[in-house]
Amino acid sequence: TLKQAYQPLNEQTVVELAKKLELFTDYQHIEVHEIGDGNLNLVFRLIDSVTGKSIIVKQALPYAKVVGESWPLTLDRARIESHSLKKSAEFAPEHVPEVYYTDHHLALTVMEDLSSHVILRKGLIEGIQYPHLAHHIGTFIAKSLFYTSDLYLHPYEKKELVQTFINPELCKITEDLVFTDPFYDIDTNDFPSELQDAVSELWTDTELKKRAAALKYKFLTRAEALLHGDLHTGSIFVTETTTKIIDPEFAYYGPQGFDIAHFFANIALNYAAHSFHISDPLKRSDYQGYLLGVIKDTWETFSDQYRELWKKEGVEAATKLPGFEEEILSGLFTDMIGFAGCEVIRRTIGLAHVEDLESIGDFNGQIELKKRVLKLGSDWIKKAESIKNIDEFITYIRSV
Ligand code: ADP
Ligand code: MG
Ligand code: MG
Ligand code: MG
Repeated sequence: TLKQAYQPLNEQTVVELAKKLELFTDYQHIEVHEIGDGNLNLVFRLIDSVTGKSIIVKQALPYAKVVGESWPLTLDRARIESHSLKKSAEFAPEHVPEVYYTDHHLALTVMEDLSSHVILRKGLIEGIQYPHLAHHIGTFIAKSLFYTSDLYLHPYEKKELVQTFINPELCKITEDLVFTDPFYDIDTNDFPSELQDAVSELWTDTELKKRAAALKYKFLTRAEALLHGDLHTGSIFVTETTTKIIDPEFAYYGPQGFDIAHFFANIALNYAAHSFHISDPLKRSDYQGYLLGVIKDTWETFSDQYRELWKKEGVEAATKLPGFEEEILSGLFTDMIGFAGCEVIRRTIGLAHVEDLESIGDFNGQIELKKRVLKLGSDWIKKAESIKNIDEFITYIRSV
């Protein structure tokens, strides 16, 4: 390693770093751009305009980029992100960028340039269909959960991994912004006054708040498997044929239903938004049908592969008990529904919104749609126990 003290990089110093690390053979034609569109970090793309070789350097700042220095945030998230990417590469290398170099002091990761891909959220807003998406995400989540759990690992090894991924500051962001703030009158919330009545209804719904608190409690206490922790459609890079999961700085050991819930919730938000983005009714129903198919196929791929891994590679004694996998999967499914409910609510009235909804030009239409999204989230949270299968879960999205 370089043993260099932390300093935020810029377009000049990132080239000096590349030289020290001998990332290129020649530096005459290196072009650099800071391309980060995320909320938290710096992302540089370096390309040799002659050979075409390119790399990405992602560096954490000691604060959240979107807010500024008034919101300090641990640099340790860069360590978490690089460890997570490397862990995923052990069982699903085709679904993560390759890591070339990491430096915990500089809080950076040098990785494969995936600029041939687009961010899934953008593609979905444009109405593009990705035929392999569901299979890839279902596979990635099944492997991630199984291979990092006590079902497969020696309990010592698992606990060592739990330690590696202790991530208190990033978890706290989720605990506050996903599970607490949207359910209370707290100033991180962000919604137009036209939504005040609908929001007040949530804030006075004791049953809803209790269910959300129970979901938060699971997030706080259940070290079941290594999660990505922020698996929304902005953390997925796609082409027609490939799917790559990026940005795992929120990774930690948590409840198994969490990641798939965030994926489904963000697909549901995109579905809702297409009531406005696609005006032709046939095209709209075709695309919305595709989105529901993604949810169904992802769930089926996930659960089939999870059962398969359990049967073939399960080590823990519990994996030999007939039917126990169904108990685990059914608990995961119920948790998933509640977590998805929290995610759609916080993306509507919390601090971080989604472009899918915000880009709706018809303001009154956007408000009415957001009210229905809040109802969807509240239903999922409160009725999770009574929703029996993925088709019933999907039916709720249809009514949005
Ligand atoms: P943040 O943690 O700040 O959200 P991300 O990891 O999501 O950062 O990256 C922000 C943006 O930078 C992505 O949306 C993408 O446009 C670009 N980016 C990140 N990683 C890569 C990569 N490996 N290849 C190409 N572009 C990338
Ligand atoms: Mg991101
Ligand atoms: Mg981003
Ligand atoms: Mg991030």
